[in-house]
Amino acid sequence: MARYTGPVCRLCRREGSKLFLKGDRCYTGKCAIERGRPIPGQHGQGRKKVTEYGTQLREKQKARRIYGLMEKQFGLYFKKADRQKGVTGENLLTLLERRLDNVVYRLGFANSRAEARQLVRHNHFTLNGHKANIPSILVKVGDVISVKEKSRESEKIKQIKELAATRLLPAWLSSDAEQMVGNVVAMPVRDQIDVSVQEHLIVELYSR
Ligand code: SF4
Repeated sequence: MARYTGPVCRLCRREGSKLFLKGDRCYTGKCAIERGRPIPGQHGQGRKKVTEYGTQLREKQKARRIYGLMEKQFGLYFKKADRQKGVTGENLLTLLERRLDNVVYRLGFANSRAEARQLVRHNHFTLNGHKANIPSILVKVGDVISVKEKSRESEKIKQIKELAATRLLPAWLSSDAEQMVGNVVAMPVRDQIDVSVQEHLIVELYSR
């Protein structure tokens, strides 16, 4: 699956808000948004009037970039959310949260979603004891995510273990940082998903 490989802070600058794409750096003064860097591009400074469509589009782009998805893949999640019962916008965020790479990140087993995706791809995790190297797998209640026995000795995983011990978990996950094992104890609900996205604007955009 294709992914964005350009400079990530540029994405935050474009959205004008922190999307927390770089892990620890996002919490330091080095953050481009903290430093007040402008919208990128020749006309970045001049963009003043934003249309209704523009607002909706920016909200969709923000969500897409937070979860590191390309346009087509994001659209497929929307279609799936729209087919489900309940509020489409909330369904969409729940689906995105349930992705394995996001869960690995939320458990504190990676510094950022991008790093989580790479670790999953590189086969460092198992799901219910089975090989799981596809970042888009959707977890469900009762699933157990663990770091592979063989991977525990790697320097990277040792560093991550320290991080995992300090990470505050959302209520729908639990973990044993020492053993590097995480559990899905419930489905995520909107209040537990701390992404600053107005999902109803995304629904309005796709409903045009
Ligand atoms: Fe965004 Fe993090 Fe870069 Fe700040 S440091 S601009 S939050 S990716």
